[in-house]
Amino acid sequence: MRIARCVSTSADDSAPFYGVVQGEPGRERVAVIKGDPFFTGIEPTGVTHALEDVRLLAPIIPRSKIVGIGRNYADHAKEMGNDVPGEPSMFLVANTAVVGPGDPVVLPEWSEEVSYEGELCVVIGRICKDVPAEKAADVIFGYTVGNDFTARDRQRTDLQWARAKSFDTSKPLGPWIETDLDTEDLALVTRVDGEVRQDGTTADMVFGVRELVAAVSSAFTLLPGDVIMTGTPAGVGIVSEGQRVEVEIEGLGTLSNPVVRH
Ligand code: MG
Repeated sequence: MRIARCVSTSADDSAPFYGVVQGEPGRERVAVIKGDPFFTGIEPTGVTHALEDVRLLAPIIPRSKIVGIGRNYADHAKEMGNDVPGEPSMFLVANTAVVGPGDPVVLPEWSEEVSYEGELCVVIGRICKDVPAEKAADVIFGYTVGNDFTARDRQRTDLQWARAKSFDTSKPLGPWIETDLDTEDLALVTRVDGEVRQDGTTADMVFGVRELVAAVSSAFTLLPGDVIMTGTPAGVGIVSEGQRVEVEIEGLGTLSNPVVRH
């Protein structure tokens, strides 16, 4: 099931609502559901919209945090001159960094070197702590696509990655959450202005989704709506004002964002 968060484009005052995206590609409809699926379950209201009549928002604004995973693909660690860590390498991202599909990514004035990083994202469905890997599926709500934009110059020079990884608009998520997905071997492709830059598979993750949920929940209590970004394959690169970055993950869809500088 695909769960989207959206606003109606036909009503000026539309509040965000959740819906289930159904139907064939190009003819999808959004069946509006009551309340918040993270807390109230999936209950259709009977109202539906054509997908083109809504604007998709980030499918989740994490209640408390995004946990990013660094160097989780050997070929990416290598291109950055690093070794693969012996256990998952974690960093925190503020929830204010999240934007949705189509939203502009604003390059900060204090960085000249912002890179894209296409990533599979795990969305947590229930409060949990110390989850064994074999029980990880019990706490996962679903999956979405993310782009872990990173100010590479500040990542090198700042003591902590807070600014490099959490600046406003740096974490596009979307287009929706897929609740039924086998993440063992999904193609992950990132394009800049249509040109393929990353062409990987989640099969190459050093630590898989279950291991990451176990490791992250051994450090942090996870809340419904928290997100784990699982790392990026090789092919990262710097973006410029005016470019558009698309991340496509098999079975999930495409997250597309323009890059701007104010
Ligand atoms: Mg990353």
